[in-house]
Amino acid sequence: MLIVGAGPAGLAAACAAQDAGLSYLVLERQGIVQSLVEHPQQIRYFSPADEMAIGGVPFFVRGGHKPTREDALAYYRAVASARGLRVATWEEVADVERVGEAGAGGHFRVRSVRRVAGEGKTRDHRARFLLVCAGTFPNPKRLCVVPGGDLPKVFAKLDDPTPFWGRDVLVVGGGNSAATAAMTLAEAGARVTLAMRRPPADFQSHLRPFIVRDLLIMAGEKRLELHTGVRVARIDPESVRLVRVAYGEAPPERGADDDVIDLPNDFVFALIGHTADAAFFARLGVPLAEDGLPVYEEETAETTVPGLFIAGSLSRANIILESRRRAVEIVARIAARRPGQP
Ligand SMILES: Cc1cc2nc3c(=O)[nH]c(=O)nc-3n(C[C@H](O)[C@H](O)[C@H](O)COP(=O)(O)OP(=O)(O)OC[C@H]3O[C@@H](n4cnc5c(N)ncnc54)[C@H](O)[C@@H]3O)c2cc1C
Repeated sequence: MLIVGAGPAGLAAACAAQDAGLSYLVLERQGIVQSLVEHPQQIRYFSPADEMAIGGVPFFVRGGHKPTREDALAYYRAVASARGLRVATWEEVADVERVGEAGAGGHFRVRSVRRVAGEGKTRDHRARFLLVCAGTFPNPKRLCVVPGGDLPKVFAKLDDPTPFWGRDVLVVGGGNSAATAAMTLAEAGARVTLAMRRPPADFQSHLRPFIVRDLLIMAGEKRLELHTGVRVARIDPESVRLVRVAYGEAPPERGADDDVIDLPNDFVFALIGHTADAAFFARLGVPLAEDGLPVYEEETAETTVPGLFIAGSLSRANIILESRRRAVEIVARIAARRPGQP
């Protein structure tokens, strides 16, 4: 079995494959947990350490705090070493071909390309099963339908909050990452507005309870402004316009003046989710759904290409806890399909 991507999902799958006695190899185009390497340097994750642990290896953080990026990177390196996982780093999956029928000697021919060291060198692999855990992190959704959504002051990722001290910042998005970024920016001295499409009653449904708690405290103390049930109508060089919307319905045209919120603005962070690498999935022969993520069978995580499975954030798992659970389930399914299994 080949696993594409050594993020938390791919590493969790590798541990499960090792436990099940499956022959496996993880192909990773950069280093292990590359997405976490690229998270903001000062981040403290919103998940407790035990929810980020994989492969049965305990993850403790001093004082019981939530892990920092450094804690998490050290932990995943330790898991890969302690478990002796088979990971080929700096080796990108470039091409995949399905050969023959499933169950009749059918297999995948996978071509990987070395990056940086040994740049361009290729290697061919053969596997009965392919588990794609390639993540979505490098492909953020953009606010391109909003006038001004392509201005240079609109970012899809927060690295460090310091450059935004003393500036008017709008954060757009209804997930844990958007809420965390808004609080990080506010704590660093930016004047922050957080805009979510979900209405006031529902905005908490996609957020972890402790994030809702902290957000409400900060909004109550006027350390940030929280607008729910709004969409971004336009972004101008020195301002933004939000419009109140009925969630799930087509946005109304501009109505009464109190439907419109105009704010001074220097920077916008559009943290509205991620999509799959469309070119990569076209090569795999797996169609993408309307949300930009691959189509697969909900119950089994198998795609329309027999033997090709999807896990991790590509399978709409927003947190590592969920990615880990699904990766382990898929590997158990693959192990049950080995010849000789009942
Ligand atoms: C700012 C931020 C904060 C977050 N905080 C939390 C948190 O507190 N708790 C939580 O549970 N989750 C959190 N998340 C979400 C979490 O990071 C993701 O759920 C998780 O990383 C998804 O794991 P994954 O293995 O599916 O994908 P990724 O972690 O994205 O890993 C995919 C891997 O695949 C590799 N890859 C891609 N294409 C190829 C290819 N063609 N060939 C070979 N390798 C390839 C990539 O280099 C990468 O290493 C946060 C996310 C962000 C952005």
